[in-house]
Amino acid sequence: MIRNLIVILGDQLSLEISSLEKIRKNEDKILMMEVSNEIEYVNHHRKKLVLLFSAMRHFADELKKNKFDVTYVEFNKSEKNFTMELNRQCKKFNPKSIKITHPSEYRVLNEVKKWEKLLGIPVTIIEDTRFFCKIDEFSDWAESRKELKMENFYQQMRKKYKILIDDKEKPIGGKWNYDVKNRKRLPKNHPEIPSPLICKPDKITKRVITQLNKKYTKHFGDLEPFWFATTKQDAVKSLDDFIKNRLEFFGPYEDAMKEKEKFLYHSVLSIYLNIGLLNPHEVIEKVLQKKDLPIESIEGFVRQILGWREYVRGIYWHFMPKYNQTNFFNAKNKIPNFYWDGKTKMNCMKNCIEQTKQEAYAHHIQRLMITGNFALIAGIEPKQVCDWYLSVYADAFEWVELPNTHGMILYADGGILGSKPYAASGNYINKMSDYCKNCEYDVKLKNGKNACPFNYLYWNFFLKNQNKLKKNPRLWTVFSTIKNMSEDKKKQIKDDSEKFLKTI
Ligand SMILES: Cc1cc2nc3c(=O)[nH]c(=O)nc-3n(C[C@H](O)[C@H](O)[C@H](O)COP(=O)(O)OP(=O)(O)OC[C@H]3O[C@@H](n4cnc5c(N)ncnc54)[C@H](O)[C@@H]3O)c2cc1C
Ligand code: SF4
Repeated sequence: MIRNLIVILGDQLSLEISSLEKIRKNEDKILMMEVSNEIEYVNHHRKKLVLLFSAMRHFADELKKNKFDVTYVEFNKSEKNFTMELNRQCKKFNPKSIKITHPSEYRVLNEVKKWEKLLGIPVTIIEDTRFFCKIDEFSDWAESRKELKMENFYQQMRKKYKILIDDKEKPIGGKWNYDVKNRKRLPKNHPEIPSPLICKPDKITKRVITQLNKKYTKHFGDLEPFWFATTKQDAVKSLDDFIKNRLEFFGPYEDAMKEKEKFLYHSVLSIYLNIGLLNPHEVIEKVLQKKDLPIESIEGFVRQILGWREYVRGIYWHFMPKYNQTNFFNAKNKIPNFYWDGKTKMNCMKNCIEQTKQEAYAHHIQRLMITGNFALIAGIEPKQVCDWYLSVYADAFEWVELPNTHGMILYADGGILGSKPYAASGNYINKMSDYCKNCEYDVKLKNGKNACPFNYLYWNFFLKNQNKLKKNPRLWTVFSTIKNMSEDKKKQIKDDSEKFLKTI
């Protein structure tokens, strides 16, 4: 008889995962499952599926090499969902108890919570210790505040962990925030940027690709070339490669965009962090060792992981299950087909979507200021936008995707996460990228057939949502411009927007 059946989920691929802490190799069994329900509940990018299954299979092999007793069920041999497969395994092995690290998504936690009653076996859910901030700790912080500003949360985390903090609890370098230095456009003759580490598919990965190619032909995205790391060792090499070759300029060019530069100075590490191949503590520790690099890059990068990543997780768990049910602007438009095939005359959108199709990756500013900004000002229904983001990126898990999409880009939560909607016109895109020079639309034109759609949609968005936003102090300049706008101009904006939205 098995003492504990320890279930390890696809984003818990770490030997340090809390469910393994007190494991007894001779008495406990580990169960890992690939199930069709998880593959099919959204239209996941095929590279994301390869990443997950290949990394899971590599991890199972590593566990076996470490003499753990592992049962691994592949998707073509498994039951439909976790519960059904677990039930089958429990009948076979008759465990005294089931253990699992807290699932990262609400949907899965809900399923796990039903196991004890359904299977008649005690189930222990153990806290996920990979994060800097516990779920309850965030809730305590949130309940003690009127406004949930990321900046305040982040400063508290820095003090708690003594990260970039001097003896007097002051920030090293003199400032908490270097955002002002970190908004540079990439200069015209900028030298070639080193690309992320390419990991060649091995036997295990190739087998996953063949299996998925047979069964899942209709899922979004290109399956090959596949180059992601699928083991801890390769993920660490990717981290070292980033620190050596791209971290120095991460800060200054964090907000830049460039046609044909898919990664710029971004780390491309979220895919490994989110499935357990990298631990956020080890990533920050290694980055902090680079004392010779500019503080704006070091702080800028630490802020993303210790600040944003932890903060969005806190928001997710504090506000779920109600968080995804709001629709502040009552946006109802359907997501255009070009989000899936990239067939649009808007060069910025075309580039970001085609890149997403190829790589299952887009960097933050592409997600926020191009595809996200468009979804916001075109009034696309939040659920459809969230489903898209959850499907198309290899790093997409609901705990991190939802607050970024529903909250940060769509402001559908009414301002819990952001203090204002991130709406921008073509002018911003032109300032931060080179997309506009190859576009059929003219970024300088505000209205008419050839005008950049971001220009009139931007004003249309604020005109339409005036009542909901005009008291926001951060939008003072927007509404003072609207105040001085002629009725003719407003009509032109509305007509152009309606005409354009009908065509998509
Ligand atoms: C609409 C939208 C949807 C997003 N969906 C996801 C998602 O599903 N999964 C995901 O991991 N990130 C998501 N993000 C956040 C961010 O865009 C990605 O983490 C980042 O682009 C990943 O690329 P990178 O590893 O090169 O990041 P870098 O730019 O190198 O940043 C370093 C790390 O910081 C963390 N990070 C940075 N920004 C954020 C953020 N806003 N929220 C959480 N973590 C952050 C990531 O772990 C990232 O690896 C989303 C952002 C937006 C605007
Ligand atoms: S002109 Fe407008 S649509 Fe075209 S690339 Fe620039 S911002 Fe995008």
